[in-house]
Amino acid sequence: MLGQGTGPRVLLKYLREAMAEPLGPQERLDRIVQQIAAAMGAQVCSVYVRRADDVLELFGTYGLKAEAVHLSQLRVGQGLVGTIAAAGRPLNLAEAEKHPAFAYLPETGEELYKSFLGVPMKRAGRALGVLVVQTTETKAYEEEDVEALETAAMVLSDLVASGDLKGLSQQGTELDQSGTVSLSGAKLAPGIGIGQVVLHEPRVVVEHLFGDDEETEMSRLAIAVQSVRASVDEMISRNFNRTDGADGDDHMEVLESYRMFANDRGWVRRIEAAISQGLTAEAATEKVSQENRSRLMRSSDPYLRERLTDLDDLSRRLMKQLMGDSATTGNEGESFVVVARTMGPAELLDYDNAKLRGLIIEEATVSSHVVIVARALGIAVVGQVSGFVARAENGDRVIVDGDDGVIHLRPPEDVNESYLERVKFRAKREARFDALRDKPAVTRDGVDIELLLNAGLTVDLAQLEHSGAAGIGLFRTELHFMIASRLPRVEEQTQFYKSVLDAAGGKPVTFRTLDIGGDKVLPYLRTVTEDNPALGWRAIRLAIDRPGLMRMQLRALLQASVGRQLKIKLPMVTMVTEIDNVRATLDKEIAAQKKFGHELPSEILLGSMIEVPTLMWQLDELMQRVDFVSVGTNDLFQFMAASDRSSSYLANRFNALSRPFLRALREIVRACERHNTPLQLCGELAGDTLSALALFGVGYRSISMPPTSIGPIKEMVRSMNMGVVTDTVNAAIDESIGGQTMTEVLRDLADHQGIPL
Ligand code: PEP
Ligand code: MG
Repeated sequence: MLGQGTGPRVLLKYLREAMAEPLGPQERLDRIVQQIAAAMGAQVCSVYVRRADDVLELFGTYGLKAEAVHLSQLRVGQGLVGTIAAAGRPLNLAEAEKHPAFAYLPETGEELYKSFLGVPMKRAGRALGVLVVQTTETKAYEEEDVEALETAAMVLSDLVASGDLKGLSQQGTELDQSGTVSLSGAKLAPGIGIGQVVLHEPRVVVEHLFGDDEETEMSRLAIAVQSVRASVDEMISRNFNRTDGADGDDHMEVLESYRMFANDRGWVRRIEAAISQGLTAEAATEKVSQENRSRLMRSSDPYLRERLTDLDDLSRRLMKQLMGDSATTGNEGESFVVVARTMGPAELLDYDNAKLRGLIIEEATVSSHVVIVARALGIAVVGQVSGFVARAENGDRVIVDGDDGVIHLRPPEDVNESYLERVKFRAKREARFDALRDKPAVTRDGVDIELLLNAGLTVDLAQLEHSGAAGIGLFRTELHFMIASRLPRVEEQTQFYKSVLDAAGGKPVTFRTLDIGGDKVLPYLRTVTEDNPALGWRAIRLAIDRPGLMRMQLRALLQASVGRQLKIKLPMVTMVTEIDNVRATLDKEIAAQKKFGHELPSEILLGSMIEVPTLMWQLDELMQRVDFVSVGTNDLFQFMAASDRSSSYLANRFNALSRPFLRALREIVRACERHNTPLQLCGELAGDTLSALALFGVGYRSISMPPTSIGPIKEMVRSMNMGVVTDTVNAAIDESIGGQTMTEVLRDLADHQGIPL
């Protein structure tokens, strides 16, 4: 509830007057906090401003002790005020003391006050400070109050950003933007990108907050909305044509859901409401965008959070329209790296692809829509580097290393030089591998090796031809489900699988049925919360309990493969009886297809992944039930070694190239030989040269890997003598000679044979 005789509109009017008066900076701030306290019916209103050292300093207050001003301080993340700045979201508490982050500042005399409402003062996505109101009664503020305070915070952030308050603190409020910054983040897409920083977000800064005439602002908004919608339509049709369906399907789906947002009436209506409170069209857009952020960021639903970036993206487009700012694409002729806090997929396509070398994005994961699009464009991406945007400036030199997940901002000359060398070296290697593309993968002593590709999205398919792989050994079907905004219908799945087979052009493709559950969450499908999701209700376990989902997928696979070979493998099989269960479902689906007179695939092969150690003691029963097997070394090793595959603490602790694991892998080869069962292996081991050498040594002849590994592994295969490798590896596995580790044995072996690693 707002204070007597006030409302957002009146509050804005007062603030506007306070901003226009000829006052000194401290006086102006004091006047503003007084106005806000009155309008909000609060006994206290305080402003905390963030300094360069990430400390929030009390800059002005109405109600707290005046001597605390410029003395009281909290670090970002500390206390309620620090929590608001860190999270960038409001806190609305009837009893502030009960909040776990509450930190009492005795010099302020705030013990008298019970309720607390604080909102971040944001500018270009960064919290420049925090605005707080407090009352003596215990009460929670209403949504309307929160919105009014957010509007006031916009005015204050404008004041901070204008530099007016700079002289008030002992410390500067400028950020240090000069030294080198090197940070580690998540590797989201491989490669190395070098260029100048192009900041994605802070270019749009609202300059005029207060609207003079509501009608004018409304019509400015209507024209801008119209033009944004038209540009979204144009961009989507441009991308439809450009990709010819070859690498476009995944991001087309993403763009379509984005178009839906552009046409959402609710969004525009809320901006109109903010205009009628007295804001300009651009300030109203910014305000609604901030409200959306704080609402959606609270959501733990990954689907909603992903929608947030779409909304941010649209708001920025709209603001650019309103303020006449066109998208920046870097200086003429210069390579550049885009730096963003968050980003919608469409915005990345606005940049000039020819000069775009990389993306640094604070809030994204491997499966974020924008990252999927970035991978399709083939640029390096590093993510999860919080606070990076604030430290970079347009035009700064930056290196983004997607191979190692490292960023160097304003790098010193020696780092720069060494990366330029790396880029040259990579280009030379690429040229060498390209030359091998059409050559066979055969060893010097004539043993044929099948090198296959791991894939999961349409964008990966181009790599099949480019890398010279013999086919797709692992098609992770869950990726298609993970980027979709809803469960793909049977017809959609059928079309998708058909496009995969078409792109493979007769090369074999092994589809793995859905491996969801664990960390692979489908945003639209409720799953359970488990203590150990990797060991939980996932993959085939879930499929058996939810046969509808499995039947849909099997039907789509059958329909997509009419007249061609269909090869399916099952993930996370623990007991061989699970295969019987799926086989029965598959048989039913085949019978249904026949009954309706549909044609069938020319051949149907059902295989099992070996990822769970129990299968090691069911190998003979397993071989009798399947047409082929495929070892998933990522999971098999994690379960055998009881070592979480994604834990950075354990990453270098246990080595898959150790005798126990290699002995187990050899047991599988022997069982396959006994039963004449075709054997494949997929998982990261297959893509590493030293590990692949060990795999060849124990008898693997068909391995599946990421596209970038095909060239190096083929080069190795063509330089090795399989007889020597087999003898050496097997002897070393049986008995440790001279105390050498397997890694040492393999390195020596490569050295002696002149095998490039
Ligand atoms: C594996 O476990 O080795 C595997 C290939 O499957 P994923 O990495 O998809 O779990
Ligand atoms: Mg697996």
